Amino acid sequence: MKIIARKNLLLFSFLFISSFAFARQAPVQEPTGGNPEWSKPYAPFRIAGNLYYVGTYDLASYLITTSQGHILINTGLAASKETIKASIEKLGFKYSDIKILLTTQAHYDHLGAMAAIQKETGAMFMVNRPDSSVVADGGFSDYALGGKSTFVPIPVSNYLKNDDTILLGNTVLTMLHHPGHTKGSCSFLFTTSKDEKGKSYRVLIANMPTIVTEQKLTEVESYPGIAGDLAYTLTAMKKLRFDLWVASHASQFDLHKKHKPGALYNPAAFADRKGYDEYLKELQQDYNKRMAQ
Ligand SMILES: [Zn+2]
Repeated sequence: MKIIARKNLLLFSFLFISSFAFARQAPVQEPTGGNPEWSKPYAPFRIAGNLYYVGTYDLASYLITTSQGHILINTGLAASKETIKASIEKLGFKYSDIKILLTTQAHYDHLGAMAAIQKETGAMFMVNRPDSSVVADGGFSDYALGGKSTFVPIPVSNYLKNDDTILLGNTVLTMLHHPGHTKGSCSFLFTTSKDEKGKSYRVLIANMPTIVTEQKLTEVESYPGIAGDLAYTLTAMKKLRFDLWVASHASQFDLHKKHKPGALYNPAAFADRKGYDEYLKELQQDYNKRMAQ
């Protein structure tokens, strides 16, 4: 019995590796000439409890440390692998302790280094299911930016859906399906571990529903549900309750106004409900304008 099981396992891994190798044959071309702040290094820091910022100046990557290893959310561009690694080690943690990898959206500016980090750490990559085909072909099937592979395809361990929980050690994250920017864009909500002052915080890692396509929203054939998805996400996000919030891009939550490199630990700087509500209001206005076109 054991031998058969092993044979099947070997066969399975062979099929998996060969189909994956085939998928990888499309040349990956990460777009160049983007925002220079996307690759500009930034000093890592502790946001609240067991949540840390390990991204670049504008592309946010979040490290959540737990009693059973770490969770990393978003990687930025392909070249960010080394800066994320250095940031994690600068904070006193081990890169090799990353156990779970997540993303807020399947675009190359958040997934560029994901496949390489997955390979080096052996961590499980979990994705909101509607983004899974895009993740599997490196962005080729993206409804708006597709037609070329812009990041290395990533092997998926688990497919997630709205309200699924992700458990690691003493931390539980809830994935919130917030589609519209991509089909499987999502946010994460969790309560941090207690800090030295005995305080823990409910944190929203938000993917704000900005509109990628320039097409009329009711005529996007590659994403017929886009208008309904954006409306759903705007409504859902307005209702969320949290103590602190951050987002996929530093500019979206005004990181550089709230934190200066080397500043003391100050979770309260990331409360800013007003900034969150104002941003959603702007996005709602953009959406209404686009729908009235
Ligand atoms: Zn994006």
